[in-house]
Amino acid sequence: MKIKVLPKKKGFICTTSHPIGCQKNILEQIENAKNGKKINVENSIKNVLIIGGSTGYGLSSRVLATYGLGANTLNICFERKSVKGRTASAGWYNTIAFEDYARKDGFYAETILGDAFSDEIKEQTIQKIKSDLEGKIDLVVYSLASPKRIDPREGKTYSSVLKPIGSKFSDKTLNTDTGVVSSTEIDPANQEEIANTVKVMGGEDWSWWIEKLLEENILSNEAMTVNYSYIGPKATQKVYRTGTIGEAKKDLEKTCVAINEKMKNAVGGRAYISVNKAVITQASSAIPIFPLYVSILYKIMKQQGTHEDCFQQIYRLFEIFLSKKPKEIDSLVDENSFIRIDDLEMKKEVQDEVDKIWKEVNSENLKTLSDFENYQKEFLTLYGFCRQDVDYEQEVEIEK
Ligand code: NAD
Repeated sequence: MKIKVLPKKKGFICTTSHPIGCQKNILEQIENAKNGKKINVENSIKNVLIIGGSTGYGLSSRVLATYGLGANTLNICFERKSVKGRTASAGWYNTIAFEDYARKDGFYAETILGDAFSDEIKEQTIQKIKSDLEGKIDLVVYSLASPKRIDPREGKTYSSVLKPIGSKFSDKTLNTDTGVVSSTEIDPANQEEIANTVKVMGGEDWSWWIEKLLEENILSNEAMTVNYSYIGPKATQKVYRTGTIGEAKKDLEKTCVAINEKMKNAVGGRAYISVNKAVITQASSAIPIFPLYVSILYKIMKQQGTHEDCFQQIYRLFEIFLSKKPKEIDSLVDENSFIRIDDLEMKKEVQDEVDKIWKEVNSENLKTLSDFENYQKEFLTLYGFCRQDVDYEQEVEIEK
């Protein structure tokens, strides 16, 4: 079915996505990987499993696993196909475009579509690795961001919340449709909400994946797994690090220690947490105050020449860390065994400037003090819009 596709924004999501725009986004990342500085691969990563590889950090991980490390990729993601004249989700179009390009370039690139939290999808993944990838995975990237999780062992659905803990939070917030900066208040989470958020975004499902892969003898010698976390500065602390999502991330970080021990003992492997920079993704747009923080941060980091997007962050992760052997990576992590690629965001000169602008910013000066105009554009670009090289007046096939 061919239709004209325009953005339909609803709160912090866009309900339409443009297939050609998404394809061009993918091609841009692939070309950046092909034309940029080559990664010097010192280990032997051949097969990569990416859980959540259709958008954001997971997608860039997939592009760079393929075009940076030269690996086969199997991606697990939860995306919506086109039905009844509605466009598919951006992650759906991204995945189709990526796999078309990767296969033409001679790479294995497959996706299992479904709920990564379920036993069924884990089982399907195991079977596919056995049939297509000689039964071995060298790197598992876990990059899920989900608002809910069905625990298959209990059959119960858990929903996460983005709330402070302990006391009410009040601060500035930004309406990304209107550019109005106003104040917001969020009530603290109760114990059940905290526990549910940990259940969804904590480490349990990651550990179940790794246990299953080890049980089935799927992980190769010196295999690695990496999961993405965020710490962030004072400006985002109350809704992030000391809030419900921060509790989930702390659980993830604790789980990493246990997974690392298991992987070390079983295959001489490793589990890492990579602490990444704040970037514009579908998931981060939903976090209260993040759009304002990111708009200010981008302006400062661009001015200082240190800005990075998902692709550039993951390039650095792969180039400095994951292209090396575990023993060498061990010598590069911080005192908590975290890989830190948020170092530039966390620099004092960046955060001092964030704090200064945060105090001054209002609806009138937003466009001069922050990168808000670009924020709006980059947000829509996630869905394939706002690209100069796409004619949005043309009808496009949405059911591919
Ligand atoms: P994103 O929304 O762009 O990607 C989420 C991915 O998870 C998609 O591929 C989606 O299909 C997949 N997914 C969601 N639910 C699923 C399910 N039930 N089964 C299978 N797949 C499912 O998010 P992102 O911002 O790239 O986040 C990825 C990770 O990076 C998260 O752990 C996040 O906390 C972390 N992180 C993000 C930022 C940031 O600023 N965006 C910063 C640091 C760390």
